[in-house]
Amino acid sequence: MLVPKTNIKVCSECGHHHENGRLCGNCYKKVEIETNEIKERIQEKLANTAIDKDVVVLYEGEKVPDQPNEFWKGKRIIEMKKERPQWFSKNLLQKSTQQPSTSTAVKPTDLA
Ligand SMILES: [Zn+2]
Repeated sequence: MLVPKTNIKVCSECGHHHENGRLCGNCYKKVEIETNEIKERIQEKLANTAIDKDVVVLYEGEKVPDQPNEFWKGKRIIEMKKERPQWFSKNLLQKSTQQPSTSTAVKPTDLA
C-alpha cells in the first residue's frame, strides 16, 4: 500500500527531494563516491599497510595544514589529484567515534 509522504524536504545542497530528518540520498551518493575514491588512493599509496591510521586528505592547491609535530604522529597525507569538491567537508574522514574530552588521562599537547 502506498502512503503519500508528507515529510519531504528539498535538499539545500543539491535541490533533490529527500525525507525530512534523513540524509539527502543524492548528496550521500556523491559523498560515498568521493570517499571511495579517497580510499582507493589510500590503497594505492599505502598499499596494504594499515589504513586505520589517521589520514589527512589534501586536494590540489591545498596546503599541508600547519600543525605541531604531535598532530602528525601516525598520520599520512593523501594527495588527491583534483580540486576538493565544494560540498565535500574537510571533516568527513575524521573519526566520528571521538571521545568527548572529559577524560583527565589525556593531557593537552600544548602544555608539554
Ligand atoms: Zn542533496
